[in-house]
Amino acid sequence: MQVPILCYHSHIITSPDYAGNGHLALARDLELIMEHGKTVVPLRQVIDALGRQDRHAPDNAVVITFDDGSKADFMPIEHPQFGPQPGLYPILQRHEHRYPQTVGAVHATSFVIACPQARQQMDTACLFGLDWMSDDWWAQAEASGTLSIESHSWNHNNAVCDDVPEGTGDQFYSIDTFARAERQIRDAAASIARISGRRPDIFAYPYGHVSDYLGHEYFPRFQQHHGMLAALATRPDYVTENTSRWHLPRFVHGEHWRDPETFIQIINGQMQSL
Ligand SMILES: [Zn+2]
Repeated sequence: MQVPILCYHSHIITSPDYAGNGHLALARDLELIMEHGKTVVPLRQVIDALGRQDRHAPDNAVVITFDDGSKADFMPIEHPQFGPQPGLYPILQRHEHRYPQTVGAVHATSFVIACPQARQQMDTACLFGLDWMSDDWWAQAEASGTLSIESHSWNHNNAVCDDVPEGTGDQFYSIDTFARAERQIRDAAASIARISGRRPDIFAYPYGHVSDYLGHEYFPRFQQHHGMLAALATRPDYVTENTSRWHLPRFVHGEHWRDPETFIQIINGQMQSL
């Protein structure tokens, strides 16, 4: 098993082309995945295969994830600078319509932020104040069978949020005590469950930051307690049977690839691990 997990951000658009627009990139990448004989599989299928001989993800598997949970993961938005954007879930649907052999086979996971106040503060301070961080689509996404809702923490530890202590925000390494971990992982999961209808059991580290405490203590030692199955970072590498479930690597669009040529290398297993 050598699976690339891909990560897109639907709300960060920096240019009207493949390099800076995840909507355009995802549409193209789905075509490339097909042209190169790869198969999109649910993230859960790869996690279920970790450390086991009796289960495995199919050869040529690719996993798709979205970070931060803006509503552009699920529906079209109007970007103030770059105009109408189709939304990532509609792109998955359109792909299935166009290629009937992929119906029921395309899947993605959206990592959302739990705290409503934090989402609102980020929407105002970091986005355009257009209510892109709403949660009224989570249950519908979860029920779609195509887009799963999982956890991207309580508040992303974003410095603009009221409950992030001065000087500790905009990074996730400061989540290094049991109490802080409880807030960001256990409380977040309970809160997301009330809205999505299912308790998330996969976590994506904000900023890709894995503190020693989370990666080596909280996640592995308190698994019964927090109920998580795996956690994803953003180190660009492939998942194999032997990858630690608390340090799953990912390739991030806009950071690790900005053109179709590099994307083809990634899905063909040709990227050197850095
Ligand atoms: Zn994030």
